[in-house]
Amino acid sequence: MSRIAYVNGRYVPHGEASVHVEDRGYQFADGVYEVCEVRGGHLVDARRHLDRLERSLSELRIAMPMERRALELVMRETVAQNRVRDGIVYLQITRGVARRDHAFPPAGTQPSIVITARNHDLGKLEQGASDGIAVVSVPENRWARVDIKSVGLLPNVLAKQAAREAGAKEAWFVDANGFVTEGSSTNAWIVTRDGAVVTRPADFGILRGITRTVLLEVLADHGLKLEERPFTMEEAYAAREAFITSATQFVTPVVRVDGKPIGNGAPGLIASALRRDYHDHAEFA
Ligand code: PLP
Repeated sequence: MSRIAYVNGRYVPHGEASVHVEDRGYQFADGVYEVCEVRGGHLVDARRHLDRLERSLSELRIAMPMERRALELVMRETVAQNRVRDGIVYLQITRGVARRDHAFPPAGTQPSIVITARNHDLGKLEQGASDGIAVVSVPENRWARVDIKSVGLLPNVLAKQAAREAGAKEAWFVDANGFVTEGSSTNAWIVTRDGAVVTRPADFGILRGITRTVLLEVLADHGLKLEERPFTMEEAYAAREAFITSATQFVTPVVRVDGKPIGNGAPGLIASALRRDYHDHAEFA
C-alpha cells in the first residue's frame, strides 16, 4: 500500500510530498513538531499532544495553521489513509515560506504544515522492551529552551548517532553540573535501591513528555514513591532499575548505562509493570 502525506491542504503520495526550498523549517529549523501514538486505530493522548503543540507554537509566535478541531480531523484522516493501526502520526508546523531573512517573515505569511503517519514495527519494539536497551551518556549541548518541541534537533541527532556507534539505543544528556537532563528523544528515569522512582522536574531543561505526564498518574496508582529531582550518572550506575519514556517507545527498560549493568542487568520489575499498565491511563480518541 502506498503512503500518503498531508502537505499544506493536500493529501499527496508520500514520494511526491515536498516543501519549498525557502520553507523556514528547512532553512532555519524554524518550526515545531509533535509525535502522537496510534493504537488500535485511535490517537493516544491527542489532547495533551495538541496542548503541547499550541504551547510550542505560542512560545515561538507561530500561528496555528488551522483550528485545533480541523487539525485533529486531518491527523485522523492521515492515519486512515495510511491504514495505521498501531503506529505514529507525525505533525510539523513551520513559520512558512519566505525570502531568506533571519527575522520573522512579513505578517500574513502562512505557516506550513506536514502530517505523516506510519505503522510501528511492533515486534522490534517488544523485543527492545523484553531485552532492555543500553544507554550512553553525552554532554548536554542543547539550547536553553528544550521545553519547546522545536524541529532544531541537531544535538539530538548527533547524540543518537553516538549511541548507535557505541552499540546503544539511546543517549542521555548530562548537564554541566553532572545531572542527567533527558534522552535524545525520550525522558530518563531511574529507580533507587529503596524503590523511589526518580526523574528530572519538567522545567526548561527537558521536554515535558506526554508519556512522562501520564506515567506520573500510573506511579501514583501503583503507590510508588516519586522523586522529581535531577539525578547523576553515578546514581544511575547504582540504580536498581532505569527506563526511558516516549510516545513511540512507551516505557522501555534500560539494562546498561555506559557499559555498566543496571541492577541485575535484566529489565526491572517496576519498569515492566509500568509499561504493562501505561495504556490503561492514556486517553484514547
Ligand atoms: N524528550 C525529548 C527530547 C523528546 O524528543 C521526546 C519525544 O520525542 C520526549 C522527551 C518524550 O516525549 P513524549 O513522551 O511526549 O513522546
